[in-house]
Amino acid sequence: MTLDNLTLQTPYLSLDEEFYNLTDPEPLDEPYLISFNPEAAKLINLDSNTSDDPHFVALLNGTFSPKGSRTFAMCYAGHQFGNYNPWMGDGRAMNLGSVNGWNLQLKGCGETLYSRTADGRAAVHSSIREYLMSEAMHHLGIPTTRALGIIGSKTKIIRKRMENAAIVLRLSTSWVRFGTFEYFYYRKEHTKLEALAEYVIKESYPYLQNDDDRFFKMFCEIVERTATMIAKWQGVGFNHGVMNTDNMSIEGLTIDYGPYAMLDDFNYNYVCNHTDRVGRYAYGEQPNISYWNLTKLSEALSPIISKEKMQKKLDDFGAFIYPNAYVDIMSDKLGLAQKLDGDAQLIEDLVVTLHEAYVDHTLFFRTLSRYDGDRTPLYDIAMEPVVVDNWLKHYDDRLSQETRTQPERQKEMLKTNPKYVLKNHMLQEAITLAERGDFSMVETLLHIAAHPYDELPEFEHFAGETPEHHKNLGLSCSS
Ligand code: AMP
Ligand code: MG
Repeated sequence: MTLDNLTLQTPYLSLDEEFYNLTDPEPLDEPYLISFNPEAAKLINLDSNTSDDPHFVALLNGTFSPKGSRTFAMCYAGHQFGNYNPWMGDGRAMNLGSVNGWNLQLKGCGETLYSRTADGRAAVHSSIREYLMSEAMHHLGIPTTRALGIIGSKTKIIRKRMENAAIVLRLSTSWVRFGTFEYFYYRKEHTKLEALAEYVIKESYPYLQNDDDRFFKMFCEIVERTATMIAKWQGVGFNHGVMNTDNMSIEGLTIDYGPYAMLDDFNYNYVCNHTDRVGRYAYGEQPNISYWNLTKLSEALSPIISKEKMQKKLDDFGAFIYPNAYVDIMSDKLGLAQKLDGDAQLIEDLVVTLHEAYVDHTLFFRTLSRYDGDRTPLYDIAMEPVVVDNWLKHYDDRLSQETRTQPERQKEMLKTNPKYVLKNHMLQEAITLAERGDFSMVETLLHIAAHPYDELPEFEHFAGETPEHHKNLGLSCSS
């Protein structure tokens, strides 16, 4: 389908006017294409050569409006670093409408009712980071929003330095956040809370529509999906950095990519967001924080769902929903096909081991995927091989209880433990080149992002240990 035939619908606008604000994008000056993602185009049935259409850049710049589209910003609130902020919303994003179950959104397209004192813009560097990482996460099997394309421009914006503004066209099956419910709860607008729950069920959990207990079951879905998402983050070594409740999706999707990072050397306490001085959103804290965020969601839903039932579900999250999801993910990473007593302990010991061994997270699991009893390759990548040695003794014992053959195990592990993840230094290289007008590395990383488990000999240099001076740095929130 061509862009001229793209027809959008705007079901969100059937909600009361308080849920959104109709607003027009402010186009950027001299927009140009940085990258187009044909994989995401398929999701909304757009032709793979859509970027050749001059309307494509115009679509991202807000000057081409698809049929049926109306642009609007959504309201929401949220707990930011533990404190409630009643007035947030899409401060720099505008929704265009939806097609095929995907809601299209421009990020960085100008001020909205919810911009507060900020400029409604997004810098090229953070936009490239969001564009690439959301695709990488998808291909790693982690629920996430997607991205169709990105444009740059001559429009200057002030961040730590003057930067050029960009716009990303993001796609999501839902843009509703925990904070959307909080917005109406704290304003004591319970009818709207209920209307929002009905909307969420229709959009995200349609199989619950005729269920008398649908609100509670929706909450259960959110709890379970959040557990799965967080377990996957922990498994792959992803640190989100800004797990405020406004950045938590009611579908358990990874949303709003800011100062995120993939772990370099494993560090349980790693904090990618350098403004997070106390480490509230440290890598190792993510499961606890997701629980905290879910309790905030349960408070917001308390006028329409039994508090006791939600509390029981939250207790279950801590007692077994999250722990089981995590053990499942880690067992796959370790190539354990059987479930045996003691596996959770083996995994817990591994976390301590990795923390003490100073070893690259991704490289460790990839190397372990070829483990055949010879420990040398693992010793070679760890700064403290003795620590690894102790754990491997237990791992050997455990493997001896597996019924799968070694080649079968290795094959599965190589499909589970990525060879390539997008580390910050790789993204930074692509950004530096893009800021000079060379977008080739954005394309390269988009390709690598789509093939995390493949051997890509020409990109072998991205599969190794992170160069020392790029390891586990803190990133600024400025975006
Ligand atoms: P974030 O933590 O980036 O997800 O953003 C937190 C809130 O600030 C959201 O309501 C954003 O829409 C808003 N925001 C962030 N950056 C800007 C900006 N440059 N202009 C307007 N609003 C912004
Ligand atoms: Mg956000």
